[in-house]
Amino acid sequence: STPSADAGTTPAGVRAAVRDVPAYPFTPLDVPIKLDQNENPYDFPADLKAEALARMAARPWNRYPDLHADTLRERIAAFEDWEAAGVVVTPGSNVLIKLLTELGGIGQTVLTVNPTFSVYTLEAQLLGAELVQVPLNADFSLPVEALKAELAAREPGVLYITQPHAPTGHVDAEQDIRALIDAARGWIVVLDEAYYQYSAQDHRDLIRANPHCLSLRTFSKAWGLAGLRLGYALAHPELAGQLQKLVPAFNVSVLAQTALEVALENPAYVQQRVAEGLRERARVLEALAAHPTLEALPSQSNFFLLRSPDAGATYTHLLSRGIVVRRQDRLHLLEGCLRVAIGTPAENDALLAALAELA
Ligand code: PMP
Repeated sequence: STPSADAGTTPAGVRAAVRDVPAYPFTPLDVPIKLDQNENPYDFPADLKAEALARMAARPWNRYPDLHADTLRERIAAFEDWEAAGVVVTPGSNVLIKLLTELGGIGQTVLTVNPTFSVYTLEAQLLGAELVQVPLNADFSLPVEALKAELAAREPGVLYITQPHAPTGHVDAEQDIRALIDAARGWIVVLDEAYYQYSAQDHRDLIRANPHCLSLRTFSKAWGLAGLRLGYALAHPELAGQLQKLVPAFNVSVLAQTALEVALENPAYVQQRVAEGLRERARVLEALAAHPTLEALPSQSNFFLLRSPDAGATYTHLLSRGIVVRRQDRLHLLEGCLRVAIGTPAENDALLAALAELA
Protein backbone atom coordinates (compact mmCIF):
# COMPACT_ATOMS: atom_id res chain seq x y z
CA SER A 1 0.00 0.00 0.00
CA THR A 2 2.82 2.41 -0.78
CA PRO A 3 1.69 5.50 -2.73
CA SER A 4 3.72 4.45 -5.78
CA ALA A 5 6.69 2.31 -6.71
CA ASP A 6 8.65 5.36 -7.79
CA ALA A 7 7.43 8.52 -6.09
CA GLY A 8 9.89 10.47 -8.22
CA THR A 9 7.63 9.99 -11.26
CA THR A 10 4.51 11.40 -9.53
CA PRO A 11 3.61 14.56 -11.48
CA ALA A 12 3.85 17.71 -9.39
CA GLY A 13 0.20 18.35 -10.27
CA VAL A 14 -0.93 15.54 -7.98
CA ARG A 15 -2.12 17.16 -4.76
CA ALA A 16 0.08 16.42 -1.77
CA ALA A 17 -2.98 15.21 0.21
CA VAL A 18 -3.54 12.43 -2.34
CA ARG A 19 0.13 11.61 -2.83
CA ASP A 20 0.69 11.20 0.90
CA VAL A 21 -2.28 8.93 1.64
CA PRO A 22 -1.65 5.18 1.28
CA ALA A 23 -3.93 3.27 -1.09
CA TYR A 24 -7.03 1.64 0.48
CA PRO A 25 -5.56 -1.22 2.53
CA PHE A 26 -7.38 -4.30 1.39
CA THR A 27 -6.00 -7.50 -0.11
CA PRO A 28 -8.63 -9.88 -1.47
CA LEU A 29 -7.80 -13.50 -0.64
CA ASP A 30 -9.12 -16.52 -2.52
CA VAL A 31 -10.33 -18.49 0.48
CA PRO A 32 -13.47 -20.68 0.67
CA ILE A 33 -15.02 -19.04 3.76
CA LYS A 34 -15.05 -15.26 3.47
CA LEU A 35 -15.87 -13.61 6.77
CA ASP A 36 -13.74 -10.50 6.20
CA GLN A 37 -16.04 -7.97 4.49
CA ASN A 38 -19.32 -8.14 6.42
CA GLU A 39 -21.11 -9.27 3.30
CA ASN A 40 -24.29 -11.31 3.15
CA PRO A 41 -23.20 -14.95 2.93
CA TYR A 42 -25.99 -15.67 0.45
CA ASP A 43 -26.25 -14.57 -3.16
CA PHE A 44 -29.37 -12.84 -4.49
CA PRO A 45 -32.10 -15.55 -4.83
CA ALA A 46 -31.71 -17.43 -8.12
CA ASP A 47 -35.30 -16.81 -9.33
CA LEU A 48 -34.95 -13.06 -8.74
CA LYS A 49 -31.60 -13.06 -10.49
CA ALA A 50 -33.20 -14.73 -13.51
CA GLU A 51 -35.98 -12.13 -13.51
CA ALA A 52 -33.44 -9.28 -13.27
CA LEU A 53 -31.39 -10.74 -16.12
CA ALA A 54 -34.48 -11.06 -18.32
CA ARG A 55 -35.44 -7.44 -17.66
CA MET A 56 -31.87 -6.29 -18.29
CA ALA A 57 -31.87 -8.09 -21.64
CA ALA A 58 -35.10 -6.34 -22.61
CA ARG A 59 -33.76 -2.83 -21.93
CA PRO A 60 -31.55 -0.84 -24.24
CA TRP A 61 -27.85 -0.72 -23.28
CA ASN A 62 -26.97 1.95 -25.83
CA ARG A 63 -29.05 4.59 -24.04
CA TYR A 64 -28.00 6.45 -20.92
CA PRO A 65 -29.92 5.51 -17.78
CA ASP A 66 -32.05 7.97 -15.80
CA LEU A 67 -30.02 11.14 -15.18
CA HIS A 68 -30.40 10.95 -11.40
CA ALA A 69 -31.94 7.48 -11.13
CA ASP A 70 -35.30 9.15 -10.53
CA THR A 71 -37.40 6.00 -10.93
CA LEU A 72 -35.19 4.19 -8.47
CA ARG A 73 -35.32 7.10 -6.03
CA GLU A 74 -39.11 6.96 -6.17
CA ARG A 75 -39.11 3.23 -5.51
CA ILE A 76 -36.68 3.50 -2.62
CA ALA A 77 -38.76 6.38 -1.24
CA ALA A 78 -41.91 4.23 -1.39
CA PHE A 79 -40.09 1.39 0.35
CA GLU A 80 -38.71 3.67 3.08
CA ASP A 81 -41.85 5.82 3.48
CA TRP A 82 -39.80 8.88 2.49
CA GLU A 83 -40.12 11.74 0.00
CA ALA A 84 -38.47 10.90 -3.33
CA ALA A 85 -36.84 14.36 -3.35
CA GLY A 86 -35.07 13.36 -0.12
CA VAL A 87 -33.45 10.23 -1.58
CA VAL A 88 -30.00 10.23 -3.23
CA VAL A 89 -28.69 7.05 -4.88
CA THR A 90 -25.08 6.23 -5.80
CA PRO A 91 -23.00 3.14 -6.66
CA GLY A 92 -22.48 2.11 -3.03
CA SER A 93 -22.66 4.26 0.08
CA ASN A 94 -18.87 4.66 -0.08
CA VAL A 95 -19.51 7.10 -2.91
CA LEU A 96 -21.95 9.04 -0.73
CA ILE A 97 -19.25 9.33 1.94
CA LYS A 98 -16.95 10.90 -0.64
CA LEU A 99 -19.71 13.27 -1.79
CA LEU A 100 -20.68 14.23 1.76
CA THR A 101 -17.05 14.98 2.50
CA GLU A 102 -17.01 17.16 -0.62
CA LEU A 103 -20.24 18.80 0.51
CA GLY A 104 -19.18 19.73 4.00
CA GLY A 105 -15.63 18.59 4.65
CA ILE A 106 -13.32 20.14 2.04
CA GLY A 107 -11.66 23.15 3.63
CA GLN A 108 -13.73 22.46 6.75
CA THR A 109 -13.84 19.77 9.41
CA VAL A 110 -14.66 16.07 9.37
CA LEU A 111 -15.43 15.00 12.93
CA THR A 112 -15.75 11.35 13.90
CA VAL A 113 -14.61 8.89 16.53
CA ASN A 114 -11.68 6.50 16.79
CA PRO A 115 -11.86 3.68 15.84
CA THR A 116 -14.28 4.24 12.99
CA PHE A 117 -15.11 3.10 9.45
CA SER A 118 -11.94 3.81 7.48
CA VAL A 119 -13.63 5.48 4.50
CA TYR A 120 -14.63 8.56 6.56
CA THR A 121 -11.02 9.25 7.50
CA LEU A 122 -9.62 8.22 4.11
CA GLU A 123 -11.91 10.62 2.22
CA ALA A 124 -11.24 13.43 4.70
CA GLN A 125 -7.51 13.00 4.07
CA LEU A 126 -7.82 12.67 0.28
CA LEU A 127 -10.07 15.70 -0.01
CA GLY A 128 -8.08 17.87 2.35
CA ALA A 129 -10.56 18.25 5.20
CA GLU A 130 -9.35 18.81 8.72
CA LEU A 131 -9.88 15.42 10.36
CA VAL A 132 -10.74 15.34 14.06
CA GLN A 133 -11.18 11.96 15.75
CA VAL A 134 -12.35 11.65 19.34
CA PRO A 135 -11.54 8.32 21.05
CA LEU A 136 -14.52 6.07 21.77
CA ASN A 137 -15.18 5.33 25.42
CA ALA A 138 -13.62 2.11 26.72
CA ASP A 139 -17.04 0.39 26.61
CA PHE A 140 -17.31 1.43 22.91
CA SER A 141 -20.05 3.98 23.62
CA LEU A 142 -19.89 7.39 21.94
CA PRO A 143 -17.86 10.04 23.79
CA VAL A 144 -20.83 12.40 23.81
CA GLU A 145 -19.40 15.20 25.94
CA ALA A 146 -16.06 15.27 24.10
CA LEU A 147 -17.85 15.32 20.72
CA LYS A 148 -20.12 18.13 21.92
CA ALA A 149 -17.04 20.11 22.96
CA GLU A 150 -15.54 19.69 19.46
CA LEU A 151 -18.84 20.65 17.81
CA ALA A 152 -18.98 23.82 19.90
CA ALA A 153 -15.33 24.75 19.42
CA ARG A 154 -15.19 24.44 15.62
CA GLU A 155 -16.80 25.91 12.55
CA PRO A 156 -19.34 23.46 11.09
CA GLY A 157 -18.37 20.60 8.83
CA VAL A 158 -19.48 16.94 8.75
CA LEU A 159 -20.00 14.67 11.76
CA TYR A 160 -19.98 10.92 10.98
CA ILE A 161 -21.70 8.58 13.44
CA THR A 162 -22.19 4.88 12.66
CA GLN A 163 -25.15 3.03 14.18
CA PRO A 164 -24.61 0.19 14.81
CA HIS A 165 -21.00 1.26 15.10
CA ALA A 166 -18.34 -0.32 12.87
CA PRO A 167 -16.10 -2.09 13.70
CA THR A 168 -17.50 -2.69 17.22
CA GLY A 169 -21.16 -3.54 16.52
CA HIS A 170 -22.09 -1.27 19.46
CA VAL A 171 -25.41 0.60 19.52
CA ASP A 172 -25.72 3.83 21.49
CA ALA A 173 -28.67 5.09 23.50
CA GLU A 174 -31.16 7.08 21.45
CA GLN A 175 -30.80 10.00 23.88
CA ASP A 176 -27.06 10.19 23.17
CA ILE A 177 -27.61 10.32 19.42
CA ARG A 178 -30.28 12.96 19.97
CA ALA A 179 -27.94 15.02 22.18
CA LEU A 180 -25.27 15.00 19.46
CA ILE A 181 -27.75 15.97 16.77
CA ASP A 182 -28.99 18.86 18.93
CA ALA A 183 -25.42 20.01 19.61
CA ALA A 184 -24.56 19.84 15.90
CA ARG A 185 -26.92 22.48 14.51
CA GLY A 186 -25.24 23.93 11.44
CA TRP A 187 -23.18 20.80 10.90
CA ILE A 188 -24.14 17.98 8.54
CA VAL A 189 -24.75 14.94 10.72
CA VAL A 190 -24.35 11.64 8.89
CA LEU A 191 -25.86 8.62 10.62
CA ASP A 192 -24.38 5.68 8.76
CA GLU A 193 -26.94 2.89 9.14
CA ALA A 194 -25.24 0.34 6.88
CA TYR A 195 -26.12 -2.44 9.33
CA TYR A 196 -29.33 -1.15 10.91
CA GLN A 197 -31.36 -4.26 10.03
CA TYR A 198 -29.26 -6.29 12.49
CA SER A 199 -29.84 -3.92 15.41
CA ALA A 200 -33.60 -3.31 15.52
CA GLN A 201 -32.69 0.40 15.42
CA ASP A 202 -34.04 2.80 12.86
CA HIS A 203 -33.36 6.53 13.11
CA ARG A 204 -35.68 7.76 10.36
CA ASP A 205 -37.82 9.70 12.84
CA LEU A 206 -34.77 11.58 14.10
CA ILE A 207 -33.68 12.36 10.55
CA ARG A 208 -37.17 13.54 9.64
CA ALA A 209 -37.21 15.96 12.56
CA ASN A 210 -33.71 17.32 11.86
CA PRO A 211 -33.01 18.78 8.41
CA HIS A 212 -29.25 18.88 9.10
CA CYS A 213 -29.11 15.07 9.45
CA LEU A 214 -29.19 12.22 7.01
CA SER A 215 -29.18 8.45 7.07
CA LEU A 216 -26.79 6.45 4.88
CA ARG A 217 -28.06 3.04 3.87
CA THR A 218 -26.81 0.35 1.53
CA PHE A 219 -27.98 -2.65 -0.45
CA SER A 220 -24.61 -4.33 0.19
CA LYS A 221 -25.33 -5.98 3.55
CA ALA A 222 -28.80 -7.24 4.53
CA TRP A 223 -29.94 -7.15 0.88
CA GLY A 224 -26.94 -9.21 -0.26
CA LEU A 225 -26.23 -7.01 -3.30
CA ALA A 226 -22.69 -5.74 -2.62
CA GLY A 227 -21.63 -6.68 -6.16
CA LEU A 228 -24.24 -4.38 -7.72
CA ARG A 229 -22.90 -1.30 -5.86
CA LEU A 230 -25.96 0.57 -4.64
CA GLY A 231 -26.28 2.84 -1.63
CA TYR A 232 -28.56 5.74 -0.75
CA ALA A 233 -29.12 8.64 1.58
CA LEU A 234 -32.40 9.62 3.24
CA ALA A 235 -32.52 13.32 4.04
CA HIS A 236 -34.64 16.45 4.07
CA PRO A 237 -35.21 17.42 0.40
CA GLU A 238 -33.13 20.60 0.83
CA LEU A 239 -30.03 18.76 2.05
CA ALA A 240 -30.65 15.96 -0.47
CA GLY A 241 -30.82 18.57 -3.24
CA GLN A 242 -27.46 20.04 -2.26
CA LEU A 243 -25.91 16.56 -2.11
CA GLN A 244 -27.48 15.59 -5.44
CA LYS A 245 -25.60 18.43 -7.15
CA LEU A 246 -22.37 16.54 -6.45
CA VAL A 247 -23.59 13.19 -7.81
CA PRO A 248 -22.10 12.55 -11.26
CA ALA A 249 -24.78 12.39 -13.96
CA PHE A 250 -25.96 8.91 -15.01
CA ASN A 251 -24.01 7.29 -12.16
CA VAL A 252 -26.24 4.26 -11.56
CA SER A 253 -26.09 1.87 -14.51
CA VAL A 254 -29.23 0.53 -16.15
CA LEU A 255 -28.11 -2.94 -15.04
CA ALA A 256 -27.88 -2.01 -11.37
CA GLN A 257 -31.14 -0.05 -11.55
CA THR A 258 -32.96 -2.99 -13.12
CA ALA A 259 -31.69 -5.52 -10.59
CA LEU A 260 -32.63 -3.27 -7.71
CA GLU A 261 -36.16 -2.82 -9.04
CA VAL A 262 -36.57 -6.59 -8.83
CA ALA A 263 -35.16 -6.66 -5.29
CA LEU A 264 -37.48 -3.88 -4.12
CA GLU A 265 -40.49 -5.72 -5.58
CA ASN A 266 -39.49 -8.87 -3.66
CA PRO A 267 -38.05 -7.78 -0.31
CA ALA A 268 -39.30 -10.77 1.73
CA TYR A 269 -36.01 -12.66 1.34
CA VAL A 270 -34.19 -9.90 3.26
CA GLN A 271 -36.18 -10.42 6.46
CA GLN A 272 -35.65 -14.17 6.30
CA ARG A 273 -31.92 -13.76 5.95
CA VAL A 274 -31.65 -11.15 8.65
CA ALA A 275 -33.61 -13.45 10.98
CA GLU A 276 -31.20 -16.29 10.24
CA GLY A 277 -28.23 -13.96 10.71
CA LEU A 278 -29.51 -12.93 14.14
CA ARG A 279 -30.07 -16.56 15.17
CA GLU A 280 -26.60 -17.48 13.98
CA ARG A 281 -25.01 -14.50 15.73
CA ALA A 282 -26.60 -15.61 19.02
CA ARG A 283 -25.50 -19.21 18.46
CA VAL A 284 -21.89 -18.31 17.60
CA LEU A 285 -21.51 -15.87 20.51
CA GLU A 286 -23.00 -18.37 22.92
CA ALA A 287 -20.70 -21.13 21.71
CA LEU A 288 -17.66 -18.89 22.06
CA ALA A 289 -18.64 -17.78 25.58
CA ALA A 290 -17.24 -21.09 26.80
CA HIS A 291 -13.89 -20.70 25.02
CA PRO A 292 -10.97 -20.70 27.46
CA THR A 293 -8.77 -18.10 25.70
CA LEU A 294 -10.88 -16.18 23.18
CA GLU A 295 -13.46 -13.52 23.98
CA ALA A 296 -16.30 -12.79 21.54
CA LEU A 297 -17.62 -9.28 22.16
CA PRO A 298 -21.36 -8.60 21.97
CA SER A 299 -22.57 -7.05 18.73
CA GLN A 300 -25.75 -5.71 17.19
CA SER A 301 -24.51 -6.14 13.66
CA ASN A 302 -23.76 -8.90 11.16
CA PHE A 303 -20.20 -9.19 12.52
CA PHE A 304 -18.51 -9.30 15.91
CA LEU A 305 -15.10 -8.68 17.41
CA LEU A 306 -13.11 -11.67 18.60
CA ARG A 307 -10.40 -10.85 21.11
CA SER A 308 -7.49 -13.23 21.21
CA PRO A 309 -4.24 -13.29 23.17
CA ASP A 310 -2.42 -13.38 19.79
CA ALA A 311 -4.53 -11.94 16.96
CA GLY A 312 -1.89 -12.67 14.32
CA ALA A 313 -1.65 -16.35 15.25
CA THR A 314 -5.44 -16.72 15.39
CA TYR A 315 -5.78 -15.04 12.00
CA THR A 316 -3.17 -17.37 10.47
CA HIS A 317 -4.73 -20.44 12.06
CA LEU A 318 -8.16 -19.56 10.62
CA LEU A 319 -6.60 -18.97 7.21
CA SER A 320 -5.01 -22.43 7.36
CA ARG A 321 -8.56 -23.78 7.84
CA GLY A 322 -9.84 -21.87 4.81
CA ILE A 323 -11.44 -18.99 6.74
CA VAL A 324 -10.55 -15.33 6.27
CA VAL A 325 -11.46 -12.67 8.84
CA ARG A 326 -10.25 -9.08 9.27
CA ARG A 327 -7.46 -7.98 11.60
CA GLN A 328 -8.35 -4.94 13.67
CA ASP A 329 -5.78 -5.37 16.40
CA ARG A 330 -3.81 -2.24 15.60
CA LEU A 331 -6.80 0.03 16.16
CA HIS A 332 -7.40 2.09 19.28
CA LEU A 333 -9.16 0.02 22.00
CA LEU A 334 -9.10 -3.09 19.80
CA GLU A 335 -5.92 -4.76 20.96
CA GLY A 336 -5.99 -8.46 20.01
CA CYS A 337 -9.21 -8.07 18.01
CA LEU A 338 -10.28 -9.73 14.78
CA ARG A 339 -13.51 -8.76 13.07
CA VAL A 340 -15.58 -11.77 12.02
CA ALA A 341 -18.70 -11.66 9.85
CA ILE A 342 -21.58 -14.03 10.55
CA GLY A 343 -21.71 -16.59 7.74
CA THR A 344 -24.07 -19.40 6.79
CA PRO A 345 -24.71 -22.02 9.49
CA ALA A 346 -22.18 -24.34 7.82
CA GLU A 347 -19.56 -21.59 7.64
CA ASN A 348 -20.16 -20.70 11.28
CA ASP A 349 -19.77 -24.38 12.23
CA ALA A 350 -16.42 -24.41 10.43
CA LEU A 351 -15.39 -21.23 12.27
CA LEU A 352 -16.34 -22.69 15.65
CA ALA A 353 -14.54 -25.95 14.88
CA ALA A 354 -11.38 -24.08 13.87
CA LEU A 355 -11.51 -21.91 16.99
CA ALA A 356 -12.10 -24.94 19.20
CA GLU A 357 -8.71 -26.22 18.04
CA LEU A 358 -7.17 -23.22 19.81
CA ALA A 359 -8.65 -24.19 23.17
N1 PMP B 1 -20.60 2.22 5.94
C1 PMP B 1 -20.12 1.24 6.72
C2 PMP B 1 -20.13 1.41 8.19
C3 PMP B 1 -19.63 0.06 6.13
O1 PMP B 1 -19.12 -0.91 6.89
C4 PMP B 1 -19.65 -0.07 4.71
C5 PMP B 1 -19.16 -1.32 4.01
N2 PMP B 1 -17.99 -1.86 4.45
C6 PMP B 1 -20.13 0.99 3.98
C7 PMP B 1 -20.62 2.12 4.61
C8 PMP B 1 -20.09 1.02 2.47
O2 PMP B 1 -20.87 0.08 1.87
P1 PMP B 1 -21.21 0.16 0.31
O3 PMP B 1 -20.26 1.12 -0.36
O4 PMP B 1 -21.04 -1.23 -0.18
O5 PMP B 1 -22.62 0.64 0.23
